[in-house]
Amino acid sequence: MLGTRLTQHAARRVITGAVAISLGFAPLAGTAQTVSTTQTSPTTQVPIFSRTQPPEPKIENKGGQQTLPELGDPSQTLLSGAQERKLGEAIMYQVRSSGSYLYDPEVNSYLNELGNRLVTAIPGAPFDFEFFAMSDPTINAFALPGGFVGINTGLILLAQSESELASVLGHEITHVTQHHMARSMAHQRDATLMTLAALAAAVLASRSRSSSSGDMASAALAGAQGLAIQTQIDFTRQNEEEADRLGFERTYAAGFDPNAMSVFFNRLMRASSWFEGNTPSYFKDHPETYQRIAEAQARAFSKPFRQVPDSLDFQMVRALLKSYEGTPKQAIAFFQDAIAEKKYNNEIAAHYGLVASYLRAEDFKHAQEELATLEKIAPPHPMIEGVAGQVLMQSGQLKQAITRYEAALVRYPSKMQLIYDYPDALLKDNQPEKAAAFLTTQLQRFPRDGPLHQLAAKTYAALGKHLLEHQHLAEFYAWQGNLRGAVTQLELAVKAGDGDFYQTSAAESRLRAVRQELADQDKAVGKGHSGLNVSGTVN
Ligand SMILES: [Zn+2]
Repeated sequence: MLGTRLTQHAARRVITGAVAISLGFAPLAGTAQTVSTTQTSPTTQVPIFSRTQPPEPKIENKGGQQTLPELGDPSQTLLSGAQERKLGEAIMYQVRSSGSYLYDPEVNSYLNELGNRLVTAIPGAPFDFEFFAMSDPTINAFALPGGFVGINTGLILLAQSESELASVLGHEITHVTQHHMARSMAHQRDATLMTLAALAAAVLASRSRSSSSGDMASAALAGAQGLAIQTQIDFTRQNEEEADRLGFERTYAAGFDPNAMSVFFNRLMRASSWFEGNTPSYFKDHPETYQRIAEAQARAFSKPFRQVPDSLDFQMVRALLKSYEGTPKQAIAFFQDAIAEKKYNNEIAAHYGLVASYLRAEDFKHAQEELATLEKIAPPHPMIEGVAGQVLMQSGQLKQAITRYEAALVRYPSKMQLIYDYPDALLKDNQPEKAAAFLTTQLQRFPRDGPLHQLAAKTYAALGKHLLEHQHLAEFYAWQGNLRGAVTQLELAVKAGDGDFYQTSAAESRLRAVRQELADQDKAVGKGHSGLNVSGTVN
């Protein structure tokens, strides 16, 4: 709830437009006709809760359950599963560093819990999935090759029930399980793969080399945008129909309300016509929309009615996102008003949102008072432990914060918010040894978690252990896709001179590997540039 300010990066939009298969609402996003859930300007803030969460554990196949028809036969595609995953990871580097990736462990934890409930409802998913939020008020969601699914905060706030959100996720998961991206690319032939691979690398280059590579990055983006349009014309309709149909089955199998997709479609239709006056451009661009709604309704009628209550987590996550909107003052007023008028879906979530808003305003006195109110009415909940720890830590009550985190971690040992915040509190309390011990254990559990490496770097800096400091910072940069930064840090690690033989050898060997990766990436940029069709730019 506080923290860094977000900016919308045009590049990020184009990337996701180019390589993502979205809900099919793309015309609402990335253009002037954005649909926002608020009338005020979308100054979305990002949180103290400003880190992310590692991919969920490997999905297990449960035998003997229903399986989806294999429409997305991977043998028809240009990419192997491993290639598809690698492409997705390359794009994720861009996404993470785009400025719109929401580094919020609470929101991302929730999306991963909900998403993986849908993934496992029908066995046989080809990838581990990673779900994440984009701080973007437009209503959209997108799937990347290899199991990555992004959901805009605007969409999470527009959804009025957990089943609505689940049906959107079910749709996106289906794009992944049916290899829609890979199938589209197969039809684009080799140039496409080249373009997409180059795209990721070129944007990376534009970031790390400032001016000189700017034109190259633009060229890559223009080419990719042309490609995206071509891909859409050829495949969107078929893919969307399949994602709607199989996504519905998945969402139903996971126990959600079968009516939710059509309810959400209608909500989106109202939101878009309300926002754009009487000419919702989405319907001009997507004449099949009414058909999709009718089909969603027909599917719902084919299943027995079932009422599905929302989880408290869903309500609290929405309240947290709401607390990031507008100014801190506006956020406080919003929740105060909601509580006074009883205008809320869930009372606990409304009070939680108010605590979060006070925290964002750095009004610790009221935050603490409101927290006491919240704890009186709420059942034990890890998100309450998280916000309570933040109230204590940010108001300087470090010993109390540490005690609270220690108790909370016994109860919720896998809550990333707590895993990140506890060592942070230890560092603030000048206990870097204890923080280092905790982080060592957690890094064994989550070896590829970028934010944990960042915390470790900070911890070893405090301990004056420079090899380890630079090595962990390198891993953080690598996780972000900043390989050049990673190389620099590893060079510093090797030169630090305060590690033993094994530590130094490990840093040297990692340095060689990252240098090689960087060289491969630079090669891809060069090749991709020459193969681009810049004239394919479309608007
Ligand atoms: Zn779609």
